[in-house]
Amino acid sequence: MRLGFNDMSRYNRITVLNLIRRNENISRSELAEKTGLTPPSISRITKELMERDLIIESGVGESHVGRKPIMIEFNESSRSIIGLDLRPDHINGVITDLSPTILKRYEKEFDINLTPNEILNLSRKFLTNIIEEAEKIAPLLGVGIVLPGVVDIAKGELTYSAPMGWSKIDIKSNFKEVIPDVPFKIDNLAHAVALGEKWLKSERERENFIYVYVGKGIGAGIIANGQIYHGSEYNAAEIGHSTINFNGPQCNCGNRGCLETYCSTKVLQSNIENELDIKIDSEEELWKILNSNDKKVKKIIEEALDYLGIGIANLINTLNPEKIIIGGWPQKIGYDQVLNYLWESAQEHSMEGLSDNIEVEFSYRDEDVGPLLGAATLVLEDFLTETAIKS
Ligand SMILES: [Zn+2]
Repeated sequence: MRLGFNDMSRYNRITVLNLIRRNENISRSELAEKTGLTPPSISRITKELMERDLIIESGVGESHVGRKPIMIEFNESSRSIIGLDLRPDHINGVITDLSPTILKRYEKEFDINLTPNEILNLSRKFLTNIIEEAEKIAPLLGVGIVLPGVVDIAKGELTYSAPMGWSKIDIKSNFKEVIPDVPFKIDNLAHAVALGEKWLKSERERENFIYVYVGKGIGAGIIANGQIYHGSEYNAAEIGHSTINFNGPQCNCGNRGCLETYCSTKVLQSNIENELDIKIDSEEELWKILNSNDKKVKKIIEEALDYLGIGIANLINTLNPEKIIIGGWPQKIGYDQVLNYLWESAQEHSMEGLSDNIEVEFSYRDEDVGPLLGAATLVLEDFLTETAIKS
């Protein structure tokens, strides 16, 4: 059974549903007042939404005159959503409700020598199991998956991914046979994390912001007018390969002096190894050193933040966002000085006046959770926004 709305009153229903979702508790007369719809229309719509189990009556509210109103709330537990995060060496999955809160979490590691086909076969089995579990909790609303790379969301295809070493892989067809008749959404990892930020943290405040992830690679997701900005071929926000210095170090993309060649974790690690004359064997060790108070390490971090600030200044000058959200290693080090230092560099390199009212903050989720909730919000966005009406 497909759980979406498919008729002409869909727009009104979605408007009312979103209003209920955002207000926690709201009465029918308040809904009529806020939407401009007539009380009979509101009665009809709330009845339909209740029949679909998407809203519930939650008690009586206060009233100074007349009858106390019956309050309505969004029924977050009425559906389940699956979010998947596929990487070269593992797949993670979650089952969420509609809030979306993570209800269950699953992980599977892959041998790094596996072929794309073998990885997809294992992922299909992994998903089959999660679907079974999700349907025990509540009817499944849809499945969202995120991957690091360029994703053709219309075809459901991974166009190219440097971290996976994959190109032209039809992800949608691979999973199609195990997914029941519900929407399957796919997107680039950083794009989806940005969408998750919009839904989970600040939906009412921000419609134009950028999420920047700085890890082994650098990726970004742009939310423009409340929606992911994908670009003409889903390639938008590849800021890791914007040129900072055309005479700079060779980048794996073939160009020179890309932002990534100055501030990825790989570069931080090799700079620290050279400067301190040591060998760093694990990620844990790298984090420990990055968090130490060593003066030389601090200087290396500041230099990386200087460059990252230039990358961010370019985004500010080009896109004029309300906010920049930072994830990855600067967040993992996580102290205010890092954010302040980064912001000073961004301000210094952006056009005067442009950055005055822009806020910068860390993503509040840990690295593993962000992509998974992002994947789930791909499904939620489709279900609960006007975009869904047009499709
Ligand atoms: Zn590059």
